[in-house]
Amino acid sequence: MSSDFTAPLGELDPELAGLIDAELDRQRHCLDCIASENFVPAALMQVHGSVLTNKYADGYPGRRDYDGCEVIDEVERLAIARAKALFGAEHANVQPYSGSNANFAVLRALCEPGDTVLGWDFTHGGHPTHYDADTLTGRFYDGIAYHVRRSDRLVDVDEAAELASRHHPKVIFVGWSCYPRTVDYAAFREIADRVGAYLVADMAHVAGIVAAKAHPNPVPLADVCTFTTHKTLGGSRGGAILCRAGLAERIDAAVYPGSQGGPLPHVFGAHALAFHLAKRPEFAERIAQTLSGARTLARVLAEAEVATRCQVVTGGTENHQVILDVSPSGMDGAAALERLEAIAINANAMPLAYDAVPGPIGSGIRLGTAALATRGFDDDAFAELGGLIAAALGREGPSEAVQGQAAQLAASFPLYSALA
Ligand SMILES: *Cc1c(COP(=O)(O)O)cnc(C)c1O
Repeated sequence: MSSDFTAPLGELDPELAGLIDAELDRQRHCLDCIASENFVPAALMQVHGSVLTNKYADGYPGRRDYDGCEVIDEVERLAIARAKALFGAEHANVQPYSGSNANFAVLRALCEPGDTVLGWDFTHGGHPTHYDADTLTGRFYDGIAYHVRRSDRLVDVDEAAELASRHHPKVIFVGWSCYPRTVDYAAFREIADRVGAYLVADMAHVAGIVAAKAHPNPVPLADVCTFTTHKTLGGSRGGAILCRAGLAERIDAAVYPGSQGGPLPHVFGAHALAFHLAKRPEFAERIAQTLSGARTLARVLAEAEVATRCQVVTGGTENHQVILDVSPSGMDGAAALERLEAIAINANAMPLAYDAVPGPIGSGIRLGTAALATRGFDDDAFAELGGLIAAALGREGPSEAVQGQAAQLAASFPLYSALA
């Protein structure tokens, strides 16, 4: 084989290798509070960077359009069996390229163009792929949305029921990207039954917490569940679908050939490892730390409310997210985010329900604890993190002293030490 085939990346393409090193460096120096992010184990990168990526495998185990899939069949069977066991599902599809693709495929399976789909409004915490006009969902289906209540910022189940009775959706989505609470899946099941809709639970954010049995499992109640593999589940970037046996054929056909081409065997191979790891005690401990870290962070930020004039939305958290309303401070989300960036804390600025600042930026800061719990943060570290966030958002601002403390905190939790 030519030397281009065997030479290390650093020799072959120093420019790209330098960028990957720079990204590793950035990840080490930043405190990652982006609620949808996590760090994958070294072994998972090994699967991701393996020869599995070489194989075309259109179709499903035992019925492929390509030769030579007998090993890939076993890899996919392993991922499917582990996904089913982990979540107690009758059927799993591990091929969706992402969470969004998973949602589009589910609609392709369950709806005809023009059917009504009821989802959770994005600025109220939901995901655009559930209904929004800017996505394929809104392009092909009639998307409508329910909200959170103005009074307590909790999801308005009564409004969802009322919209369902009035519009008779074919599919009702329940699931969120920016919401610090759990929902009553049974109430959504009842609504779906009353109007003859399919209930689709999108557990993109909480899949890891569900896997660790620290969040209600929607699988027994929903007709279909979608999730991402890279958020709290801590696996490779991708999506997956779980469903009742009776819908298996339709779901599989809607993924391939309905909405995707050849699957990514190195990715579903990595999912097989992630599902395996998620059954282990170490993962359960990590999720427990993710949750208690979020409670600690919420407590420290709530105690600092007078100083920061930033409010903890709903007063606390039941998952890995802590959401701040920064509007009472006079800042918008972008300004608040800039202060956090100045002390190397990464988070998201988000519009909030009933936002005082209209527009796409809004007044919300979404913080998550999954990545830092994976990095080894304990409750003391999360409390310190909360103090630094409060200082940066409060009167002191992102001073040099606060910057130094944040850098010190990051340095005390080494990341990927085995990598150069
Ligand atoms: C993140 C997310 C998605 C989309 O996942 P991608 O992999 O980014 O496409 C879908 N639904 C919800 C609720 C999410 O939070």
